[in-house]
Amino acid sequence: ITAYFNGTYIDPADLVVPIDERGHQFGDGVYEMIRVYNGTPFMLEEHIDRLYRSAHAIKLQIDPDRSALKNTMFELIQKSGLTNLDLYVQVTRGIAPRNHLFPNCPVSVSMTVKPFRTIQIGENGAGVTFYPDERWQNCYIKSLNLLPNILAKQSAHEDGYLEAILVRDGKVTEGTSSNVYMVKNSAIMTTPLSKQILSGITRMAVKDIALQAGIPFIEQQFTPDEMLQADEIFITSTTMEIMPIVRVREKVMNMGKAGAITSTLRGKFNELK
Ligand code: PLP
Repeated sequence: ITAYFNGTYIDPADLVVPIDERGHQFGDGVYEMIRVYNGTPFMLEEHIDRLYRSAHAIKLQIDPDRSALKNTMFELIQKSGLTNLDLYVQVTRGIAPRNHLFPNCPVSVSMTVKPFRTIQIGENGAGVTFYPDERWQNCYIKSLNLLPNILAKQSAHEDGYLEAILVRDGKVTEGTSSNVYMVKNSAIMTTPLSKQILSGITRMAVKDIALQAGIPFIEQQFTPDEMLQADEIFITSTTMEIMPIVRVREKVMNMGKAGAITSTLRGKFNELK
């Protein structure tokens, strides 16, 4: 049992979602991806806060009883028998005959769990390329509508890169599924929070670690050219954690190795999880 849909624990292959489900037809919903280390969801309250924030932003009413939602998560984790896993949670505007207007029906809640594998390129770092940020104006919402992200990531993948770094008005915003940082003169620089990026939970952790370690954490936008001149680059997400970037298009950064600050952050992050 590794999935849940509206009150029932199921197998992910079971056919349970009705054709008129709004997540399926409109992408009318929001989601979270939460990593569970040794049975404990990492930064769970922060993820749930963001889920409620995203839902509120699209006028979707999730049951305000957070403990009910958490109980379902823990029950699914327990039923899966897994201890290291990725928990995906999705809430949509429910099941109703297709019509753009909001239906009058309960929201749908679905969850899946999957064992996670640590990405092995972590030590040596990965490559990224740039791609125009073609998304909408509300990227702070963790919405199901990921088509621009998917197209950008696929294009990067076909060119041999792990991630596409999105560029809007000449400035880096974030990755298709990650936040982006450069290190210059021993200071970390990353895009400030705004409607243009997702407020990453891993970003919060990195900011805390940096402040505690006395590493300057500057929230300021930078250009692709500035990124190419950086001493170190890394990206973060729940599933990639802190990923060193050692190649930006053709340019090899830091002689192809994770930089000192990136490695320090990775070490301290490993102690937290
Ligand atoms: N930015 C985008 C667009 C994302 O989709 C994600 C996560 O998938 C992130 C940033 C990183 O967020 P988090 O650290 O909460 O996983």
